[in-house]
Amino acid sequence: MSQVMDHLTDVGPGWHRILLALHYDLLAVDPNYEVDQLKEKFGGLRVYLRYHHLACEKLIMEATRLSHETCEECGEPGETAGPGWIKTLCELHRIQRNADPAKRWENSG
Ligand SMILES: [Zn+2]
Repeated sequence: MSQVMDHLTDVGPGWHRILLALHYDLLAVDPNYEVDQLKEKFGGLRVYLRYHHLACEKLIMEATRLSHETCEECGEPGETAGPGWIKTLCELHRIQRNADPAKRWENSG
């Protein structure tokens, strides 16, 4: 059985705070919730549960919304944009990424 805490390394460290909050929110709804898949896609957090649960889906939607405004690298306010592979990053990490052409097409998900 896997939960959000087992998937922290599947996304960047900047989102770990979002994942921690989501984990405890999900536990409050269903202590036995199970994650099927957790990843970054199109610059946002995606969490798929093994069993559909409306209250849990709402919590996940909120976490995804937050991820779109949080730098995946450092947790500072960020923006979802390209070039190349779409990522949500702060200004500093966007500049660093653009300085390294190889990283633009890096697929973290
Ligand atoms: Zn950053």
